Amino acid sequence: MLRPHSKRPAWHIVYNDDPRYDGRNRFTMAHELGHYQLHRPVLTEQNYRSGALDTDTLFQCKPMQSNAWRESEQQREEEADTFASFLLMPIDDYRAQVSGQNMSAEMLDHVTDRYGVSLTAAALKWIEFTDTRAAMVVSRDGFALWGRASKSAYKSGIFVRSGMALPELVTREIDSSSRGFLSDTPVERPKGVWFFSRGSETLQELTLRSEFLDISISILQFQATPFLTTDEDPSDWDTVDQFNRVSR
Ligand SMILES: [Zn+2]
Repeated sequence: MLRPHSKRPAWHIVYNDDPRYDGRNRFTMAHELGHYQLHRPVLTEQNYRSGALDTDTLFQCKPMQSNAWRESEQQREEEADTFASFLLMPIDDYRAQVSGQNMSAEMLDHVTDRYGVSLTAAALKWIEFTDTRAAMVVSRDGFALWGRASKSAYKSGIFVRSGMALPELVTREIDSSSRGFLSDTPVERPKGVWFFSRGSETLQELTLRSEFLDISISILQFQATPFLTTDEDPSDWDTVDQFNRVSR
């Protein structure tokens, strides 16, 4: 959290240094620094005239993309995440690190180590800059919590609907796996396994299970040429689906 000093105009960043959160600390600190840069009210001696702070300002943050945020908090949290993402994973460096490489567990381990971020943050960053048709799906108990499609995948009709069911085959594999990547390199899923609202196509899937966070992350890579074309303007589509979180 980002917390104002109780006695003088200053701020603290407070975070959990439990090693189970390894890979989250840097992102958490950068996220709170984002709140500090973007959202904090300016405090002066005037705010402490009574001997204690006269305003009630606290940025107490939940894990990235949490579905527990209130709508009013969502934009602020996304801005802090975006700040942290650009601070910790400089885009030119990230491109250079993965240039010419295929998606794999090793590649993702490398960038998460290099930037000290969670695999979720590293995968999301990759989705945001890759020129390929790709998507990520973060799920729990066989249903998508949230997901994101790359720009070119989105333009070709792929978007991840919150609450969509994962393929049974994939859910079974996740359930029977121990923690970690289900495979070192992506496995091919034939047409008919993964369905999006515009249909199904053959794709490459790399899935990771995190017991600690109780989520699985699937990174999906589609063939360069989409299986269908459309004259529809992608901007007409429901972009909310890209960002929706599961409503409880
Ligand atoms: Zn926050």
